[in-house]
Amino acid sequence: MSYLSRSQKFNLLRIAVSLMLLALYFTLNSLYKLNLCYTLLILTAAYIISGCDVLYEALRNIFRGKLLDENFLMSIATVGAFALGDYSEAVAVMVFYQVGELFQSYAVGKSRRSIAELMDICPEYANVYCDGVLKSVEPNEVNVGDIIVVKPGEKIPLDGIVQKGTSRLDTSSITGESVSSYISEGDTVYSGSINLNSLLEIKVTKTYENSTVSKILELVEEASFNKSKSENFITAFSKVYTPIVVGFALALALIMPIFLGAFSLWLKRALIFLVVSCPCALVISVPLSFFAAIGCASSRGILIKGSNWLELLGKAQTVVFDKTGTLTRGNFTITSCNPADGVDTEALLFAASACEYFSDHPIANVIKEASPIKYPEKISGFENFAGLGVKAVYEGKIFRCGNEKYISSYVKCGFEVADAPSVVYVCEDNRFLGCIVVSDEIKPQSKEIFQDLTKFGISSAILTGDRQSSAAYVARELGCTDVRSELLPEDKTSELQKIIASKSKGRSVVYVGDGINDAPVLAMADVGIAMGSLGSDAAIEAADIVIMDDDISKISFAYSLCRKTNKIVRQNVAFAIGIKLLVMVFAAIGYSNMWAAIFADVGVAVLAILNSFRCFKN
Ligand code: ADP
Ligand code: MG
Repeated sequence: MSYLSRSQKFNLLRIAVSLMLLALYFTLNSLYKLNLCYTLLILTAAYIISGCDVLYEALRNIFRGKLLDENFLMSIATVGAFALGDYSEAVAVMVFYQVGELFQSYAVGKSRRSIAELMDICPEYANVYCDGVLKSVEPNEVNVGDIIVVKPGEKIPLDGIVQKGTSRLDTSSITGESVSSYISEGDTVYSGSINLNSLLEIKVTKTYENSTVSKILELVEEASFNKSKSENFITAFSKVYTPIVVGFALALALIMPIFLGAFSLWLKRALIFLVVSCPCALVISVPLSFFAAIGCASSRGILIKGSNWLELLGKAQTVVFDKTGTLTRGNFTITSCNPADGVDTEALLFAASACEYFSDHPIANVIKEASPIKYPEKISGFENFAGLGVKAVYEGKIFRCGNEKYISSYVKCGFEVADAPSVVYVCEDNRFLGCIVVSDEIKPQSKEIFQDLTKFGISSAILTGDRQSSAAYVARELGCTDVRSELLPEDKTSELQKIIASKSKGRSVVYVGDGINDAPVLAMADVGIAMGSLGSDAAIEAADIVIMDDDISKISFAYSLCRKTNKIVRQNVAFAIGIKLLVMVFAAIGYSNMWAAIFADVGVAVLAILNSFRCFKN
């Protein structure tokens, strides 16, 4: 209750007073049989207290040409009931309508707050040295290359590299992971994480707009534009539904008496009809369910870019995985170096490292570590051939490194490496320099996700640019039968197209990748999920759902959440439309009264909202 805003508390008070007056009326009336004067006195007071704002809004909207909104419906219905002498019913309709409204605003506030908690990652200031004094400035005033100081307990305002200091970071607000990570000089840090132990000096590498925090916030804000099919259906539905219902009510009130007489009877039925007709239960509960689920997912480090993706993920038929960096750690180690005759190991590693200097492929990192480049300014002409390898020029020499398919189009590759995990071939101009055998580890969570998918009855496939033997090994370990290897990015697209073409109607195909060399497939799948993309802009942009850390098993959680949300939405739609139709039919033939109408309107709305609250609890 402490979460109620001031206006919500005030409305609660109004509801309570009106209810007490209503109770007072019923008690006094049963004891003393009140006369009309007292009845009107008590019930008009209750009516005005509970409904003054609704009446006012309805009047104002008439002058603005906004007829047929819920204020109007409620005003007509209650004023009509008053005119027919159903005073207590009129008050009850108004009071319970207000109860529904209060519920609704509480529910919206609750989901806003869970998004706001996410917004809490937003840094308010950055500390920079200005003429030797430390000053707090707005994060967007800091330039790339500036040194910022982050004290213990403060949020890191911009992405950067640690220049001085060692500390622990709490990255839970951006990854959803509660473990803290240890960082020291030279490590990259992301905005939004919290510095736990000691003072850090950080060299800023990205402006505020390009920093991780801004990217995440942008995502969350955009989420509301990507509406799910169900939401669009509800919007379209209530647009045609309300006028039709009002038309029906008019027909009941005006046309039926012409044939059957009993004007006040038909007017009463028409009013009941109007009360039932309010579509608020649907209008609120459907987007609320999605909103709640998106909030719940983001608290676990899963960013869903809109409710349409949520709805689609819940209908997954096949999940397709990229291998390197997604199912495997992407943390390569060098198993062996095999220089060609007349080449030494250092020269081989140096050539490879110069090529990889500007690459962010997982293979690049291990090679760069093995042979750090001292004069990177000498590197030019860097080119990345996605799914094949890279090229760079160093002191006039053209170096290339990559897989066999790529290098063998320039030189004859020596060394048949049988059964090796992954092999990087290297050449200089037209000379073969040798090959580097690298191996990668399968993530422990990868097994889990394949087991979960089988349990859910979802099929799986692996697409990879890597060689057949290493792809087959991974597939065997994980128990996946559909593996397609040695694919260039365009082959990945056509393979995915085949998979999409074979899906059943109303189901979806999900692609899970790391955004390196697979942005087109991420975008092409019904749902693209990017993994471990903290700091990788390409993936954040191309994907529909972003898992902020490397934990691939979170996909199971996301899937269950989406399925549950879809189910709750379906329940709400069926329940609300069903009850309303039923009560409307009964009203038209005279078998329902104002109290049933109140339940069909407010009761259904409250129940639907309560049902969608279940999306919060996961
Ligand atoms: P995956 O589909 O498994 O994620 P990629 O499409 O990223 O793999 O790459 C496919 C293959 O191309 C890799 O297995 C590797 O042999 C080669 N390759 C791609 N980029 C590089 C690079 N920067 N350095 C070395 N080899 C590379
Ligand atoms: Mg990859």
